[in-house]
Amino acid sequence: MPTSAKKVPETLAIGCDVGGTSTRLALVDTDTGRIVEARRHPSQAGDYRAGLAALVVDLYALRKVARRKVPIGIAIAAQLDPLRRKALVSPNLQWWNAPIADDLEAALGGVIAIENDVRGAAHGELRFGALRGVTGTAASVFWGSGIGGAVIACGQVQAGSLSIAGEVGHMTYEAGGIACGCGKRGCYEAYIGGHALTRRMRRRGIEGRTTRDLFTAARRGERKAKKLVDEALAIMGQHVGNLATLIDPEAIVIGGSIGLTAFSALQQAVRPHLLVVRRGKLRLVRAALGDNSGVLGAAALASAQA
Ligand SMILES: [Zn+2]
Repeated sequence: MPTSAKKVPETLAIGCDVGGTSTRLALVDTDTGRIVEARRHPSQAGDYRAGLAALVVDLYALRKVARRKVPIGIAIAAQLDPLRRKALVSPNLQWWNAPIADDLEAALGGVIAIENDVRGAAHGELRFGALRGVTGTAASVFWGSGIGGAVIACGQVQAGSLSIAGEVGHMTYEAGGIACGCGKRGCYEAYIGGHALTRRMRRRGIEGRTTRDLFTAARRGERKAKKLVDEALAIMGQHVGNLATLIDPEAIVIGGSIGLTAFSALQQAVRPHLLVVRRGKLRLVRAALGDNSGVLGAAALASAQA
């Protein structure tokens, strides 16, 4: 047998995670979650056509490695249309009304599945990560510069009727409160998303530039930093507790840079907001796939639709 005939698994799909700054792609064996080959390029924020062209080049290259038209899943930092064909609103990418599914289908053919990035990550955690084995209800909360999430019912990530289910960062914390980037007021994200927290650091004269600096200062016992961290944890604790009360989950997975940093403290902060019968029984788990959750989830989604 010639050496070029390297064995290619039968269960391949391509997963792609289109974020605000970079786009990651991976050819994945969806049986095991193993990444066979990965690629990455800048996302071309503000220029959908250039972004699409870069995407097509890398997708084509990965299909060449697979030696067949494997299904493609795209997890994108955008709100999608109800049929999940277009990226309607993407503040991070500055792409609006982008018909990404149709454009990729025209360029490449085959199965093209699109999902919002946070729900894509939930697909990944469900299939290969911290939520493996969940057959009923669960949720994810990704707490980073923004706050996103997903709701799982009957062991499936729910898109909802308008494909906007799970926007936990844009539920209202304070009616008529701080203006949020999403266009409404008082959202959780506007108070305790990473961007909001760094703004509050500056206003309160807390040293450092990033939320990592904030949590480090709080751990060192710096009073103003600790106060802000405690406030943020109290708010997120209430939010996650309410979510648990709403869906009675098998597990809630916590991800994102802040979620993972604050994981232990968050477990404590959630407790007072749980129904008494639920206390000590909420399985809060850390997201397990890190930066690969999007590509793995998108690949899983694509293989399910193939
Ligand atoms: Zn909002």
